[in-house]
Amino acid sequence: MNETLAELGESELLRRLSRFAPPGQLNDDSAALGSDSRPMLVNTDVLVDGIHFSDASTKPSDVGWRAVAANLSDLAASGAISVDGITVALVAPGDTPWSWVEGVYTGLKAALDEYGGVILGGDCSKGSERLLSITALGRLGPLRLHRGEARPGDILVTSGPHGLSRLGLAILQNDKALHGIPLSDALRTAAINQHQRPIPRLAALQDLLNCKPESLPWRAGGTDSSDGLLAAIQGLCSSSGCGASLDEALLPRSKDWPTGDLWDRWCLAGGEDFELVLSLPPAWAQRWLDRQPHSRHIGCITAEHNMIRWQHSRQRIDSQGFDHFRTTQTL
Ligand SMILES: [Mg+2]
Repeated sequence: MNETLAELGESELLRRLSRFAPPGQLNDDSAALGSDSRPMLVNTDVLVDGIHFSDASTKPSDVGWRAVAANLSDLAASGAISVDGITVALVAPGDTPWSWVEGVYTGLKAALDEYGGVILGGDCSKGSERLLSITALGRLGPLRLHRGEARPGDILVTSGPHGLSRLGLAILQNDKALHGIPLSDALRTAAINQHQRPIPRLAALQDLLNCKPESLPWRAGGTDSSDGLLAAIQGLCSSSGCGASLDEALLPRSKDWPTGDLWDRWCLAGGEDFELVLSLPPAWAQRWLDRQPHSRHIGCITAEHNMIRWQHSRQRIDSQGFDHFRTTQTL
């Protein structure tokens, strides 16, 4: 029986949603967090139907998982070593099936069970379209990662390959850009997994903390690649007043990744990869690369303000550099 939210009514909806939180957690108007000497990190992410997800490419449980993963990825990229939980604001039309909401909360809870934290509270409202806004709360470890802490001479590293999520979306949408291009089964599976069930890189952050050379201070530049690898590097450079040099041969392509402009563009700017992008002193970078099997060295930070270049040609890389791709393809 596929009841709608209008048929359930607000109190029954809240009663059902309370099953996804610890017992009694949603009974009151506020949630109390335990005291903790570590600074708290907070971030909010909004997902809108038709923009960040659609029924065509995203199961409701994946909508929930991705929402948590995006938030926790931002916490990891700021230095969070534990997650208290999330608050969830849900807006949906009255004709939305309960099964969709149940699926979303099932995905939210599955991701929290995997990476830490609980549903602390939230709110629901009727609205003209489906929207999910999540606020995540976490605790800072010894390293506060900032975009503005990259320094010339640092090594640029990332926790994994890029472009997989964009490829996964293209596969799920049967994008004509893929027609006639042979893709290995392993690459197809990895791409769909990365799109549907991205992993917030909290473990990679923990490894980074564990392997800092003692002689170095707690200073590193960092962000995540939720908006794409190039945007992450641009963010580091502009916030730090630095530039970057990227080695085309070291673009973090996945195994079996095809060659060509489209594929380099998806790697650099496909988005929603949710990998850490870090600017580290060379000795720290090397230790982390040695410990993280999927991590990649992609280039270095330079003193040239806001200028990202290819190492081999010295040619500038920026959004204009991608215009020629956009004549045939859109992101
Ligand atoms: Mg982000």
